Amino acid sequence: MIPLVDLKAQYETIKIEIQEAVYSVLESQRFIMGDKVEELESKIAQFCNVRHGIGVASGSDALLLSLMSIGISAGDEVITTPYTFFATAGAVSRLGGVPVFVDIDRTYNIDPYMIEDKITSRTKAIIPVHLFGQCADMDIINEIAQRHGLYVIEDAAQAIGARYKGRKAGSMGDLGCLSFFPTKNLGCYGDGGMVLTDNDELAEKIRVLRVHGSNPKYHHSVIGINSRLDAIQAAVLLAKFKYLVSWNMIRRSIAMIYNNYFIKTAIKTPITEPFNDHVFNQYVIALEDRDGLRDRLKENGISSEVYYPIPLHLQECYNWLGYKREDLPESSWASEHTLALPVYPELTWTQQKYIIDTVLK
Ligand SMILES: *Cc1c(COP(=O)(O)O)cnc(C)c1O
Repeated sequence: MIPLVDLKAQYETIKIEIQEAVYSVLESQRFIMGDKVEELESKIAQFCNVRHGIGVASGSDALLLSLMSIGISAGDEVITTPYTFFATAGAVSRLGGVPVFVDIDRTYNIDPYMIEDKITSRTKAIIPVHLFGQCADMDIINEIAQRHGLYVIEDAAQAIGARYKGRKAGSMGDLGCLSFFPTKNLGCYGDGGMVLTDNDELAEKIRVLRVHGSNPKYHHSVIGINSRLDAIQAAVLLAKFKYLVSWNMIRRSIAMIYNNYFIKTAIKTPITEPFNDHVFNQYVIALEDRDGLRDRLKENGISSEVYYPIPLHLQECYNWLGYKREDLPESSWASEHTLALPVYPELTWTQQKYIIDTVLK
């Protein structure tokens, strides 16, 4: 059986380092925040070319805290894509805000040319998602945001290390959100996330908001949440971080090999814009009989996954927004036709060749 991602295989390659890292936290008996978290925050911030990294409990919380820091509240509109993981829009709704969905382009990211039409007097922010590991077209998005006085929050949960015109994912908006969920390109052994920003004021707000708005201790001028990064997770992430760049390179070469074999078939391979360095958190193809291929792969012991089977504009909880399938046709089409194939650094050539042969058959 070939899994979609093989965390056990990865663990085997770094077992000793991970065990030492976790052991040192056990010995310290300091589990919440502390040195390891601070070291990770500065390493990731430096890697992503931003001034601040703020460790939080998950990628979902990174989005929520970012929206809290810019003051999103009841009735505020936030423009985003419906073709993403639920957390992107869920964070907006948790604050009483209203997600406004804009369709995607051929890269599966938000279509920047369709954003401006959706801006109203209540619009406060845009959340582009760097889906599957490729950045959205940030220059156009930032230009629109600037012209209308909107914040930009990058959902970079799937894109740590990705570049857009040389700039790092998470460094181009006012705030960037990372997730360290185990299957992300840099994953911890539980939940974890980080907010990235160059804005000193927003960074300070988020540092306070993640500890219940406490500043100084037991003094609350604002209401925050409990969203801290654990020292054990930070230790695991520090051990894994040194491999991130090479792991991303391997993901990219696996994707290029898939492309070479599929390009002349009826399979629609992922489109990478020339100015993007894609880090392939997922390798996603599209084809007419997606479900048929998925069944055949399963019969042959190959895992695949549908990201995402129901676009957010058609989720039951958003019925009240009144969207129909045809309102966002590209997102709806993608949900019906895309399939993610195994892509992870430990995937061997023998395994990949078997996947390719099975797909082609
Ligand atoms: C994983 C993910 C998140 C949420 O991250 P968690 O750490 O699981 O909370 C948000 N947005 C996108 C696009 C994701 O893929």
